[in-house]
Amino acid sequence: MNLILFGPPAAGKGTQAKRLLESRRMVQLSTGDMLRAAIASGSELGQRVQGIMQRGELVSDEIVVALIEERLPEAEAAGGAIFDGFPRTIAQAQALDLMLKGRGKRINLVVRLRVDDPALVERVAGRFAESGRADDNPESFKVRLAAYNAQTAPLLPYYQAQGNLIEVDGMGSIDAVAQAIDKALDAAHG
Ligand code: AMP
Repeated sequence: MNLILFGPPAAGKGTQAKRLLESRRMVQLSTGDMLRAAIASGSELGQRVQGIMQRGELVSDEIVVALIEERLPEAEAAGGAIFDGFPRTIAQAQALDLMLKGRGKRINLVVRLRVDDPALVERVAGRFAESGRADDNPESFKVRLAAYNAQTAPLLPYYQAQGNLIEVDGMGSIDAVAQAIDKALDAAHG
């Protein structure tokens, strides 16, 4: 089972992915987490992406596709992946489809977490105060939201056309959203 958690920044994708890890045999593949780890390690990749991420812009497709490709065998061995924050562009989605196809797999379900913009701004302000994550500052967040609307939202019709997109109201409590995702996953399992 390969699942994409889809939605704007601060929609709750990471929170829900981590919760799913506890209840399902899947691996979380978060390109944001991988990039933050690269920055923390001081690697050449980390140095290359640090400024881009801090500004809230997207790093190149090439970089994130390579990060995902590296982790696919591990996800496959575990029984599937929860893609969190990837793909974010049509090119990434096409690359993912190809990589999975090459392994005889596919995306089984795309769960779109629907959260309205004012709620996102409020959530991210809270997260910034709590964690101090550099790109949660109001200026960068504006850029991230714009990147989502311009580059990532066009993936919705892409997955709709594949027939595996479902929408979940992401405005509810963490538990309520989790229940809705569980229901969708169980239905997808048939
Ligand atoms: P996230 O933790 O998913 O919100 O990602 C944080 C930041 O990492 C984003 O604002 C981008 O700068 C970068 N990033 C993460 N995933 C991707 C991706 N799939 N494509 C491009 N940039 C990404």
